[in-house]
Amino acid sequence: MKSFEAVKHYFNLAADQLELTENMRTLLLTAKREVQVQIAIERDSGDLETLIGYRVQHDNARGPMKGGLRFHHEVDLDEVRSLASLMTWKTAVVNIPYGGAKGGIAVDARSLSLGELERITRKFIDEIHDVIGPDTDIPAPDMGTNAEVMAWIMNQHNKYHGFSPGVVTGKPVEHYGIHGREEATGRGVGILAIKTIGRLGHKPSTTRVAIQGFGKVGTYAAKFLQDADCKVEAVSDISGAYYRQGGLNINDVIRYSNTHGQGLEGYAEADKITNAELLELDVELLVPAALGGVITAENAPRVKAPLIIEAANAPIRPDADEMLTEGGVTIVPDILANAGGVTVSYFEWAQNRQYYRWNLDRVRQELERVMSSAFEEVWELAREREVSLRTAAFMLGINRVSRATVLAGIT
Ligand code: GLU
Repeated sequence: MKSFEAVKHYFNLAADQLELTENMRTLLLTAKREVQVQIAIERDSGDLETLIGYRVQHDNARGPMKGGLRFHHEVDLDEVRSLASLMTWKTAVVNIPYGGAKGGIAVDARSLSLGELERITRKFIDEIHDVIGPDTDIPAPDMGTNAEVMAWIMNQHNKYHGFSPGVVTGKPVEHYGIHGREEATGRGVGILAIKTIGRLGHKPSTTRVAIQGFGKVGTYAAKFLQDADCKVEAVSDISGAYYRQGGLNINDVIRYSNTHGQGLEGYAEADKITNAELLELDVELLVPAALGGVITAENAPRVKAPLIIEAANAPIRPDADEMLTEGGVTIVPDILANAGGVTVSYFEWAQNRQYYRWNLDRVRQELERVMSSAFEEVWELAREREVSLRTAAFMLGINRVSRATVLAGIT
């Protein structure tokens, strides 16, 4: 099943519960605008390279469209379209005044020098600057992009349209960014993990955790969960997975990965296992925080964790989702679990527009407030309607978007 088909599947499960008409489903599933552009750059070697960039603007019924930019070799229009749609439901679930969008460039970000990365980013903005803006569509970081890339986006956009820091979020703290944006997604995952563990009648101290992916999201989630007394027994990156019964020392792992230059490769205070084995570990909590589609109908029967928090976007394929849900596994879905990033993006954007700034404590408090109330709403709806947390989250999101669409008047 392709990525967009998967989102459509989840959408329809919720739309059935909401008894949404076919016409409304088509309207809500169709993106407002899909842009595909050519990005021609000169590599450091002097070679000419032509890349393809995408920006899908899915829906703006509840506010300007919002979503990250992904630089990854697997990016294609179908994936960007699916992620743009997820952003619409995500911003609606946490009830921030945004719609959904997503962008990407099909390129292996790790193969680029800093100069190449900057040239690609600026060229992409040259091509799309007139369809983004602080009132229309606001990009942010995602896989393969970071705060520095966001600073280039702001700078390049502002050359055409004048000073406007709210055109992009996730900027460096020293350059119109907000404290706590980098940790926000991982922290939000941690907050919801602790809430769900409690709701299921368990304690953090008896919760063993495996985290797939040790990028920004995985790292901050691991740190938060360790500080909350969980035993993070395994983490992984592209070099493989690292397991230690009784719990890794996450501060030590982070230090190693930051200083070593090649991520976790060679980390000796743990047993080396594969990324696939990590997903099947005997733990109480599994956090997929890397790519989409890692849990499939093939490996789902071997997944032992009774609780999965989706830190990545779309890490579980629909057939696996059905198998796990039927088997009694609690899944906190991406559109709720990883909404911490876009929530703090919203704080950044709102503050950019007022030339005002919160300190880190305030950002954390407000993040906790937004994530907790969304969690309560989703949990309550799931209980009331006897549906999975995913279907409840989609129901909440779709309902808000369809109400806004109808209230604004469709034609
Ligand atoms: N890329 C992140 C996401 O998938 C953040 C988006 C944003 O901050 O706009 O939610």
